[in-house]
Amino acid sequence: MKAYPRMIRRGDSFNPLEVAKWTEEIVCRDGSRKYTAFYATGVYGGIATGYVVGCCFRCFFCWTDFSRDFPEFYGRYYTAEEACKNIVDVAKKWKVNKARISGGEPTLCKKHLIDLLRLIEERDEIKLFILETNGLLFGVDEGYVKDVVKFEKVYVRVSLKAGEPEAFEARTGASKEFFELPFKAIKSLLDLNARFHVAAMTDPRIMPSEERRKLIERLREIDDFLAVNLEEEVCDPYEGTLVRMQFYGLDPLKFFERRRGYWS
Ligand code: SF4
Repeated sequence: MKAYPRMIRRGDSFNPLEVAKWTEEIVCRDGSRKYTAFYATGVYGGIATGYVVGCCFRCFFCWTDFSRDFPEFYGRYYTAEEACKNIVDVAKKWKVNKARISGGEPTLCKKHLIDLLRLIEERDEIKLFILETNGLLFGVDEGYVKDVVKFEKVYVRVSLKAGEPEAFEARTGASKEFFELPFKAIKSLLDLNARFHVAAMTDPRIMPSEERRKLIERLREIDDFLAVNLEEEVCDPYEGTLVRMQFYGLDPLKFFERRRGYWS
Protein backbone atom coordinates (compact mmCIF):
# COMPACT_ATOMS: atom_id res chain seq x y z
CA MET A 1 0.00 0.00 0.00
CA LYS A 2 1.38 3.38 -0.97
CA ALA A 3 -0.20 5.85 1.40
CA TYR A 4 -2.60 5.69 4.31
CA PRO A 5 -6.09 5.96 2.75
CA ARG A 6 -8.11 8.90 3.95
CA MET A 7 -11.14 10.05 1.93
CA ILE A 8 -11.80 7.96 -1.17
CA ARG A 9 -12.46 8.96 -4.74
CA ARG A 10 -14.65 6.85 -7.00
CA GLY A 11 -12.64 3.76 -8.02
CA ASP A 12 -10.21 3.73 -5.07
CA SER A 13 -9.71 0.42 -3.30
CA PHE A 14 -7.51 -1.02 -0.56
CA ASN A 15 -7.06 -4.05 1.65
CA PRO A 16 -9.16 -3.19 4.75
CA LEU A 17 -7.26 -5.64 6.97
CA GLU A 18 -4.05 -3.78 6.16
CA VAL A 19 -5.80 -0.49 6.84
CA ALA A 20 -7.09 -1.90 10.15
CA LYS A 21 -3.52 -2.79 11.17
CA TRP A 22 -2.16 0.54 10.02
CA THR A 23 -4.91 2.41 11.85
CA GLU A 24 -4.24 0.42 15.00
CA GLU A 25 -0.59 1.49 14.85
CA ILE A 26 -1.87 5.07 15.08
CA VAL A 27 -4.80 4.82 17.48
CA CYS A 28 -3.85 1.97 19.86
CA ARG A 29 -0.95 2.08 22.28
CA ASP A 30 -0.21 -0.43 25.09
CA GLY A 31 -3.88 -1.23 25.70
CA SER A 32 -4.98 2.40 25.36
CA ARG A 33 -7.03 3.83 22.53
CA LYS A 34 -7.50 7.31 21.13
CA TYR A 35 -10.79 9.04 21.96
CA THR A 36 -11.87 12.59 21.15
CA ALA A 37 -14.80 12.95 23.58
CA PHE A 38 -17.16 11.36 26.09
CA TYR A 39 -20.77 12.50 26.06
CA ALA A 40 -24.38 11.35 26.16
CA THR A 41 -26.73 11.37 23.20
CA GLY A 42 -30.44 10.68 22.67
CA VAL A 43 -30.12 7.65 20.38
CA TYR A 44 -31.17 4.29 21.87
CA GLY A 45 -33.33 6.31 24.29
CA GLY A 46 -30.20 7.89 25.85
CA ILE A 47 -26.70 6.43 25.85
CA ALA A 48 -23.27 7.32 27.25
CA THR A 49 -20.78 7.40 24.38
CA GLY A 50 -17.02 7.33 24.03
CA TYR A 51 -16.04 8.77 20.65
CA VAL A 52 -13.15 6.67 19.34
CA VAL A 53 -10.71 7.50 16.59
CA GLY A 54 -10.09 5.34 13.53
CA CYS A 55 -11.82 2.98 11.11
CA CYS A 56 -10.81 0.36 8.54
CA PHE A 57 -13.42 1.41 5.93
CA ARG A 58 -13.71 4.73 4.11
CA CYS A 59 -17.44 4.95 3.33
CA PHE A 60 -18.16 8.03 1.22
CA PHE A 61 -21.37 8.63 3.19
CA CYS A 62 -19.69 8.31 6.60
CA TRP A 63 -21.10 10.71 9.20
CA THR A 64 -18.11 10.76 11.57
CA ASP A 65 -15.78 13.69 12.04
CA PHE A 66 -12.39 14.04 10.34
CA SER A 67 -10.64 11.94 12.96
CA ARG A 68 -11.56 8.98 10.73
CA ASP A 69 -9.41 10.39 7.94
CA PHE A 70 -6.63 11.98 9.97
CA PRO A 71 -6.33 9.84 13.11
CA GLU A 72 -2.82 11.15 13.79
CA PHE A 73 -4.16 14.62 14.54
CA TYR A 74 -7.19 13.88 16.71
CA GLY A 75 -7.90 12.64 20.21
CA ARG A 76 -5.69 11.38 22.98
CA TYR A 77 -4.98 7.94 24.41
CA TYR A 78 -7.17 6.66 27.22
CA THR A 79 -6.61 3.43 29.11
CA ALA A 80 -9.60 1.10 29.45
CA GLU A 81 -9.89 2.20 33.11
CA GLU A 82 -9.99 5.90 32.12
CA ALA A 83 -12.46 5.27 29.31
CA CYS A 84 -14.72 3.23 31.60
CA LYS A 85 -14.63 5.92 34.31
CA ASN A 86 -15.49 8.65 31.80
CA ILE A 87 -18.34 6.61 30.30
CA VAL A 88 -19.78 5.83 33.76
CA ASP A 89 -19.43 9.49 34.84
CA VAL A 90 -21.37 10.58 31.75
CA ALA A 91 -24.02 7.91 32.37
CA LYS A 92 -24.46 9.08 35.96
CA LYS A 93 -24.57 12.76 34.97
CA TRP A 94 -27.24 12.21 32.30
CA LYS A 95 -29.11 9.44 34.16
CA VAL A 96 -28.75 6.85 31.40
CA ASN A 97 -27.78 3.21 31.84
CA LYS A 98 -26.64 2.29 28.33
CA ALA A 99 -23.16 2.76 26.87
CA ARG A 100 -21.28 2.38 23.61
CA ILE A 101 -18.16 3.51 21.82
CA SER A 102 -18.84 5.16 18.50
CA GLY A 103 -17.31 7.50 15.94
CA GLY A 104 -14.80 4.95 14.68
CA GLU A 105 -14.72 1.15 14.50
CA PRO A 106 -14.87 -0.18 18.10
CA THR A 107 -13.29 -3.56 17.23
CA LEU A 108 -9.93 -1.98 16.38
CA CYS A 109 -7.58 -2.22 19.40
CA LYS A 110 -8.83 -5.62 20.59
CA LYS A 111 -7.10 -5.56 23.98
CA HIS A 112 -8.57 -2.17 24.80
CA LEU A 113 -12.10 -3.25 23.86
CA ILE A 114 -11.97 -6.50 25.87
CA ASP A 115 -10.53 -4.69 28.91
CA LEU A 116 -13.21 -2.02 28.62
CA LEU A 117 -16.01 -4.59 28.37
CA ARG A 118 -14.65 -6.42 31.41
CA LEU A 119 -14.70 -3.19 33.42
CA ILE A 120 -18.16 -2.20 32.18
CA GLU A 121 -19.45 -5.65 33.16
CA GLU A 122 -18.51 -4.88 36.77
CA ARG A 123 -20.27 -1.50 36.89
CA ASP A 124 -23.85 -1.46 38.12
CA GLU A 125 -24.50 1.92 36.50
CA ILE A 126 -24.34 0.36 33.00
CA LYS A 127 -26.94 -2.26 32.14
CA LEU A 128 -26.32 -2.56 28.39
CA PHE A 129 -23.32 -2.01 26.12
CA ILE A 130 -24.19 -1.62 22.45
CA LEU A 131 -21.30 -2.62 20.21
CA GLU A 132 -21.75 -1.11 16.75
CA THR A 133 -19.45 -2.65 14.18
CA ASN A 134 -18.89 -2.90 10.44
CA GLY A 135 -18.20 -6.63 11.04
CA LEU A 136 -14.84 -6.84 9.27
CA LEU A 137 -12.63 -7.92 12.17
CA PHE A 138 -15.31 -10.19 13.64
CA GLY A 139 -15.60 -11.84 10.22
CA VAL A 140 -11.93 -12.72 10.14
CA ASP A 141 -11.65 -13.96 13.73
CA GLU A 142 -14.42 -16.02 15.34
CA GLY A 143 -12.39 -16.19 18.53
CA TYR A 144 -12.72 -12.42 18.84
CA VAL A 145 -16.52 -12.71 18.56
CA LYS A 146 -16.46 -15.35 21.33
CA ASP A 147 -14.34 -13.10 23.56
CA VAL A 148 -16.83 -10.27 23.17
CA VAL A 149 -20.19 -12.00 23.39
CA LYS A 150 -19.31 -13.79 26.62
CA PHE A 151 -19.99 -10.46 28.37
CA GLU A 152 -23.61 -10.41 29.46
CA LYS A 153 -24.13 -6.69 28.89
CA VAL A 154 -22.98 -6.74 25.28
CA TYR A 155 -25.48 -6.34 22.46
CA VAL A 156 -23.99 -6.22 18.94
CA ARG A 157 -25.25 -4.19 15.98
CA VAL A 158 -23.59 -5.16 12.68
CA SER A 159 -23.92 -2.48 10.01
CA LEU A 160 -23.70 -3.70 6.39
CA LYS A 161 -22.70 -1.29 3.68
CA ALA A 162 -23.66 -3.18 0.54
CA GLY A 163 -25.46 -6.18 -0.91
CA GLU A 164 -22.96 -6.89 -3.70
CA PRO A 165 -19.14 -7.10 -3.77
CA GLU A 166 -18.71 -4.34 -6.38
CA ALA A 167 -20.96 -1.94 -4.49
CA PHE A 168 -19.13 -2.79 -1.26
CA GLU A 169 -15.83 -1.75 -2.83
CA ALA A 170 -17.29 1.35 -4.46
CA ARG A 171 -18.87 2.63 -1.22
CA THR A 172 -16.30 1.68 1.40
CA GLY A 173 -13.05 1.63 -0.58
CA ALA A 174 -12.45 -1.86 0.90
CA SER A 175 -11.60 -4.33 -1.85
CA LYS A 176 -14.51 -6.51 -2.97
CA GLU A 177 -12.60 -9.67 -1.93
CA PHE A 178 -13.53 -8.75 1.65
CA PHE A 179 -17.27 -8.39 1.01
CA GLU A 180 -18.06 -11.72 2.69
CA LEU A 181 -16.42 -10.95 6.03
CA PRO A 182 -19.31 -8.99 7.62
CA PHE A 183 -21.64 -11.86 6.64
CA LYS A 184 -19.23 -14.31 8.27
CA ALA A 185 -19.40 -12.16 11.39
CA ILE A 186 -23.19 -12.42 11.34
CA LYS A 187 -22.99 -16.20 11.03
CA SER A 188 -20.58 -16.40 13.96
CA LEU A 189 -22.86 -14.23 16.11
CA LEU A 190 -25.76 -16.49 15.23
CA ASP A 191 -23.80 -19.67 15.95
CA LEU A 192 -22.72 -18.27 19.29
CA ASN A 193 -26.28 -17.34 20.22
CA ALA A 194 -25.25 -13.72 20.68
CA ARG A 195 -27.66 -10.87 21.26
CA PHE A 196 -27.49 -8.83 18.05
CA HIS A 197 -29.27 -7.44 15.02
CA VAL A 198 -28.24 -6.33 11.56
CA ALA A 199 -28.46 -2.83 10.10
CA ALA A 200 -27.67 -1.75 6.53
CA MET A 201 -27.20 1.47 4.61
CA THR A 202 -30.17 0.88 2.33
CA ASP A 203 -30.95 4.57 1.75
CA PRO A 204 -32.41 4.47 -1.80
CA ARG A 205 -30.17 7.39 -2.82
CA ILE A 206 -27.21 5.08 -2.14
CA MET A 207 -28.43 1.52 -2.68
CA PRO A 208 -30.45 0.54 -5.76
CA SER A 209 -33.59 -1.51 -5.09
CA GLU A 210 -32.23 -4.64 -6.79
CA GLU A 211 -29.16 -4.59 -4.57
CA ARG A 212 -31.32 -4.10 -1.48
CA ARG A 213 -33.38 -7.11 -2.56
CA LYS A 214 -30.20 -9.21 -2.84
CA LEU A 215 -28.99 -8.08 0.56
CA ILE A 216 -32.26 -9.04 2.22
CA GLU A 217 -32.26 -12.37 0.35
CA ARG A 218 -28.72 -13.01 1.57
CA LEU A 219 -29.79 -12.36 5.15
CA ARG A 220 -32.79 -14.63 4.73
CA GLU A 221 -30.44 -17.43 3.67
CA ILE A 222 -28.63 -16.97 6.96
CA ASP A 223 -31.71 -16.45 9.12
CA ASP A 224 -35.23 -15.20 8.37
CA PHE A 225 -35.50 -13.34 11.64
CA LEU A 226 -32.44 -11.21 10.82
CA ALA A 227 -33.92 -10.22 7.46
CA VAL A 228 -37.32 -9.33 8.92
CA ASN A 229 -35.70 -7.23 11.63
CA LEU A 230 -33.20 -5.46 9.40
CA GLU A 231 -32.62 -1.88 10.56
CA GLU A 232 -32.50 0.32 7.46
CA GLU A 233 -30.16 3.29 7.73
CA VAL A 234 -30.62 6.70 6.13
CA CYS A 235 -27.84 9.04 5.02
CA ASP A 236 -27.93 12.48 6.71
CA PRO A 237 -26.00 15.63 5.77
CA TYR A 238 -23.38 15.77 8.52
CA GLU A 239 -20.36 17.98 7.87
CA GLY A 240 -18.07 14.98 7.30
CA THR A 241 -20.60 13.39 4.94
CA LEU A 242 -20.83 16.51 2.78
CA VAL A 243 -17.06 16.84 2.44
CA ARG A 244 -16.57 13.11 1.73
CA MET A 245 -19.28 13.10 -0.91
CA GLN A 246 -17.76 16.10 -2.65
CA PHE A 247 -14.33 14.45 -2.58
CA TYR A 248 -15.86 11.23 -3.92
CA GLY A 249 -17.22 13.08 -6.93
CA LEU A 250 -20.87 13.46 -5.91
CA ASP A 251 -22.63 16.80 -5.60
CA PRO A 252 -23.90 16.75 -1.99
CA LEU A 253 -26.44 19.50 -2.67
CA LYS A 254 -28.01 17.48 -5.47
CA PHE A 255 -27.80 14.29 -3.41
CA PHE A 256 -29.64 15.74 -0.44
CA GLU A 257 -32.16 17.55 -2.64
CA ARG A 258 -33.53 14.17 -3.58
CA ARG A 259 -36.25 12.92 -1.30
CA ARG A 260 -35.41 9.77 0.57
CA GLY A 261 -38.31 7.98 -1.08
CA TYR A 262 -39.54 4.56 -0.08
CA TRP A 263 -38.90 1.11 -1.38
CA SER A 264 -41.79 -0.42 -3.28
S1 SF4 B 1 -19.63 4.63 8.12
FE1 SF4 B 1 -18.83 3.35 9.78
S2 SF4 B 1 -17.68 1.72 8.71
FE2 SF4 B 1 -18.00 3.36 7.24
S3 SF4 B 1 -16.13 4.60 7.41
FE3 SF4 B 1 -17.66 5.53 8.77
S4 SF4 B 1 -17.23 4.64 10.78
FE4 SF4 B 1 -16.23 3.33 9.24
